[in-house]
Amino acid sequence: MDAEFFRRWLTTAAGAVERDADRLTQLDSAIGDADHGSNMRRGMAAVVAALDKDRPATPGAVLLLAGRTLVSTVGGAAGPLYGTLLRRAGKALGDAEQVGGEELREALTAGVDAVAQLGGAAPGDKTMLDALRPAVEALPDTARAGHAAGQGAEATVPLRARKGRASYLGERSVGHMDPGAASSALLFQALDEVSA
Ligand code: ADP
Ligand code: MG
Ligand code: MG
Repeated sequence: MDAEFFRRWLTTAAGAVERDADRLTQLDSAIGDADHGSNMRRGMAAVVAALDKDRPATPGAVLLLAGRTLVSTVGGAAGPLYGTLLRRAGKALGDAEQVGGEELREALTAGVDAVAQLGGAAPGDKTMLDALRPAVEALPDTARAGHAAGQGAEATVPLRARKGRASYLGERSVGHMDPGAASSALLFQALDEVSA
């Protein structure tokens, strides 16, 4: 996997976010402030524009630029969290021009660990981590990772939120999918799409 592969991954993910922005916002309107779709759409569109303009030469540089762009364009909780995921993973990849499946797994695991540290969420707290953690654990098999992320997002429905805005609702957060887990599933499904 080279820089072009990573650019295609994030461009494909941006397309999925664009298509599903209304659904993400609906999920966030049930247990949050109804902006997750617009936050992610704006952020991912800015990522695509930045990657098209700067054309970073290595996978690590692609992820670093994408992460920085998300932090600076997404106002909500998701911006710094996804930004941390990609920046930490980019840092882990260093300046390698080609990345294998094992290195990708290690880098994204480091990114997910950093998200957990920043947000203080544990598995089962009904956050994006409930999709991200099983996804990276299934890597380097991207088909399994995409599937695990989707299952992880589905599994947030019966949970009670313990982090983020949705936690203010207490019991009333039960019965809805976490919007960040839903967008994380899109990210890993896009990874599988471009890997195929
Ligand atoms: P905001 O809540 O600021 O409006 P978004 O709506 O864009 O931001 O993103 C909300 C998502 O962010 C949630 O669905 C959840 O997945 C994720 N999130 C919020 N707080 C945390 C946290 N502390 N740890 C992990 N993920 C979190
Ligand atoms: Mg929100
Ligand atoms: Mg918000």
